Amino acid sequence: MADLTEQQEDVILEQAENIRNARANRAREAERKVDARLVGGPGFTPAELVYASHTRCRCGAGMAYPKGIGGRGMWQCSSVLERSPSERAAKGRDLHTEAMPFVFWSVHAERNDGTGPTTRPA
Ligand SMILES: [Zn+2]
Repeated sequence: MADLTEQQEDVILEQAENIRNARANRAREAERKVDARLVGGPGFTPAELVYASHTRCRCGAGMAYPKGIGGRGMWQCSSVLERSPSERAAKGRDLHTEAMPFVFWSVHAERNDGTGPTTRPA
């Protein structure tokens, strides 16, 4: 970096700042879309969810969260997130484990390369 002038460094730093801002904006937009679907939107498909490696809901389904949910998110029953027929049938009964916010719970997620343990439905 010693070969760069201060002016050239300023250009690079400004580009880096622009990239950081663009990434933050994309992440916020993804969070907004996830939040909108969590409150009454269509159910998530398994491909849109990250499943726990071992942790399951009281109903037997794996705990999961939607991709892009952000740091304020939480683990929830995947059956609830998918709005599956069994979830709808169970409505009103105390069948599901309560949501587990990231800030209070440390749950191991499945590996994103598809290897290792997962509670993802086969
Ligand atoms: Zn459940």
